[in-house]
Amino acid sequence: MKITAPHLGNVYIAAQALFDGLGIEYIVPPMNNKEALEMGSLFSPEEMCLPYKIMIGNYIQAIEKGADTVLLPGSCGPCRFGKYAEMQMNLFKKIGKEIGFIVIDSPGDIGIKELFKRINRISRNSKRGKIGQFESLLKAVKIMNILDEIEEKAHYLAGYEVTSGECKRLLNSCKREALNTNNPGDMIRVLEGYKRKLDNVKIDKGRNPIKIAIIGEIYTIIEPFSNLFVEDKLMDYGVVTKRRLTPSWWVKDTLLKPTKLNSLKLKRNAKEYLALGIGGHGRECIGEAVLAHREGFDGAIQIFPLGCMPEIVSKSIFPTISKERDFPIMSLVVDEMTGEAGFVTRVEAFVDLLERRRKNVLSRS
Ligand code: SF4
Repeated sequence: MKITAPHLGNVYIAAQALFDGLGIEYIVPPMNNKEALEMGSLFSPEEMCLPYKIMIGNYIQAIEKGADTVLLPGSCGPCRFGKYAEMQMNLFKKIGKEIGFIVIDSPGDIGIKELFKRINRISRNSKRGKIGQFESLLKAVKIMNILDEIEEKAHYLAGYEVTSGECKRLLNSCKREALNTNNPGDMIRVLEGYKRKLDNVKIDKGRNPIKIAIIGEIYTIIEPFSNLFVEDKLMDYGVVTKRRLTPSWWVKDTLLKPTKLNSLKLKRNAKEYLALGIGGHGRECIGEAVLAHREGFDGAIQIFPLGCMPEIVSKSIFPTISKERDFPIMSLVVDEMTGEAGFVTRVEAFVDLLERRRKNVLSRS
């Protein structure tokens, strides 16, 4: 069995550690690129959302590298993601490409017995015993958590760093070095080392950088290729960014969902504007915008794929939030036709706007 999985931010690093630990071959698709998007768009319905198209490109490129099985997490409620797996399986049958799918759905949807059956399809290919497999899983989860911590710290410190570009450089070399390790234990050591390096970055505490929350559709905000590397660009401008929706947040949220204790803070903050789940992470997006305002951020950027229903609903609520709280929120829609120049211009103009608002406030006081 040669497993692959679609790209989602840094998840491929944790997945690499998991399958190294299990002793199962894991094929990492080439990092998201224009070719993957073009291929994915060619085989996808035109009106389908961007994550679906990029994923199809990932699978095709992974098959070319020898992958024979796709591992995919299941539904996130009443939006198109709930149909991804079925549609993708049908597509590959139709185009005659041999590939199996293992869909890890929530036990609430498929039952605990079926979930274990699906997990067993992977674990029976591992030479390690049950305890060893469980240890590998725990280490992979730990790796994902540390990666998210490192990324959050780097995005925060980029606004205060004395040597411009240092946090971005550390973040990139951290991912490179982590991937060059041969086992999960070594990877954890490398990541812990980078956490310490970030703690030692020289910062100027006297600065008061612009702070922007990155909110929106979960895939688009986590996967840098789909948002045209917006967080990297904001790091270059010396802007502090914060993104609550991360792979480790998703795991925690999914595990807690059956108890209804998931994302309580976000749901509480969204309640005034949107009290019900509308699929995807539309409600969470509203909660994030309100929280960002409460936490003193200067503004928020919402990013979502063209045609994403949950985020269109959130977008329609933002003018009310902006007006009532005097809080700027910019929405950016992405698809395969999005041009970088126009996208960057809008991001730069938004940062300019936030800087001018700051100056106006200061001059009035
Ligand atoms: S949340 Fe939006 S982009 Fe993501 S699968 Fe659902 S409809 Fe598509």
